[in-house]
Amino acid sequence: MRSELYIDGKWTPAANGRTFDVVNPATEEVVHQIAAATAEDVDLAVKAARRAFDKDGWPKLSGAQRAKYLRAIAEGIRARQAEIARLEVIDNGKPFPEADWDVADAAGCFDFYAGLAEQLDNNPEEPIALADARFTSKAIKEPIGVAGAIIPWNYPLLMAAWKVAPALAAGCTVVLKPAEVTSLTALELAAIADEAGLPPGVLNIVTGSGSVAGQAIIDHRGVDKLAFTGSGPVGSKIMAAAARDIKRVSLELGGKSPFVVFDDADIDEAVEWIMFGIFWNQGQVCSATSRVLVQERIYDRLLSRLVAETQKIRIGDGLEDGVLLGPLVSKRQHEQVVAAIEAAKAAGATVSCGGKRPEGFDKGYYLEPTVLTDVPLESDAWREEIFGPVVCIKPFATEEEAIELANDSRFGLAAAVMSKDDVRAERVASAFRAGIVWINCSQPTFTEAPWGGYKESGIGRELGRWGLENYLETKQITRLAAGEKWAWYIK
Ligand code: NAD
Repeated sequence: MRSELYIDGKWTPAANGRTFDVVNPATEEVVHQIAAATAEDVDLAVKAARRAFDKDGWPKLSGAQRAKYLRAIAEGIRARQAEIARLEVIDNGKPFPEADWDVADAAGCFDFYAGLAEQLDNNPEEPIALADARFTSKAIKEPIGVAGAIIPWNYPLLMAAWKVAPALAAGCTVVLKPAEVTSLTALELAAIADEAGLPPGVLNIVTGSGSVAGQAIIDHRGVDKLAFTGSGPVGSKIMAAAARDIKRVSLELGGKSPFVVFDDADIDEAVEWIMFGIFWNQGQVCSATSRVLVQERIYDRLLSRLVAETQKIRIGDGLEDGVLLGPLVSKRQHEQVVAAIEAAKAAGATVSCGGKRPEGFDKGYYLEPTVLTDVPLESDAWREEIFGPVVCIKPFATEEEAIELANDSRFGLAAAVMSKDDVRAERVASAFRAGIVWINCSQPTFTEAPWGGYKESGIGRELGRWGLENYLETKQITRLAAGEKWAWYIK
């Protein structure tokens, strides 16, 4: 396990020598210590990234040259997949098969953006037809500059990949800050990039708190672009900081995503996807479908099946075979989710199952998967992100009512619909005010497809070609044809 900052191609302790604890959420044991970066460290990281961008030529490499580094990073991740997945479990708590999947996805993300980097060489410019024939014009894409990437703890390595891979592919250089509760695998990514020969300064990893290291990144005038995934309140701060010197900004924030199940749906399939939509990763998923709307005719049957299956979920340390629900990521997150359940009960909701620490688990941030019914529409439980394994379920009568309930939210990250009637499913999909819509499933996520939210769920899109655009500027180059005279002042 690494413990130092990675700045300008070198491993270094924090300027003031401070560290913070890494706690295994399954055991509550301190397993490691990591450098807590100061504003001074961040300044060094930004300066290194600036130099790599402005002087050392990272953006001047061809897309194909940058792609070689990205593919080598992908290979490096794959070569150590199981070991990195294990670190992710120790840091985050998620079951090993999920962590293993995340690590494979992270490698795939680097490969995908290697492909897009190569395509940049094939499409360097787009000719523009001008109405004025004396001029010719073209648009080209150029990297924005230094990207400051700040990521959360729910998919530690994958969120790093979602930002680092497209930024490097575009020709940007990066200062990345992982979440303080899950920094281990970001440091492994730095080690892999180093082994891949990535030039110094192109990728810098500063571990530490949001209020010190994160704040220093967003305030730094040497950073051209902020890319953030995390909570709404921090997203607002980041947008405000970006406004001060007009940094480019993309935000992927939270949600309270609906899942509408019509009465022609197969109950087994519906229950499977409802569970996957909220219990996967302990429900600590920005796109989790945490508000489930079920058509009246099948509501009772579906609910009793959902409760029965939910009670069967095997809870435990993510490193144990067969575990499907690990601990929440931290003491703080556990306390917040328990408080949200208590508030829901106080507001009149019924706990149909779960809602408490599972029996036999005295240590670890464990919580039973929880199904809430009778949740008042105006309560926080229905309206605010809980970010834990807690689903609210409610009956509806008509398609119109379901759409209205689904869209009645300040968020718009994701939504799901299940029906055997394809025409209806498409109609509802287009009625959702959300950036990601699943039909007959919930959560499958693909590197090739755009990811991001409407309304307060964020700005901009990650993944796919949209993710690359996040790190590119558009430049217009216009030429006056030879022999053309302007003759405005000088006739
Ligand atoms: P957070 O928004 O506080 O932290 C996310 C990242 O931002 C971390 O790296 C953190 O260090 C950094 N940060 C915090 N304050 C900062 C500042 N002033 N300047 C710059 N960076 C700063 O999220 P959290 O504390 O990890 O979780 C709180 C809640 O956020 C969760 O309960 C959940 O609702 C939500 N969340 C959403 C997502 C998502 O994917 N949308 C992911 C994680 C958490």
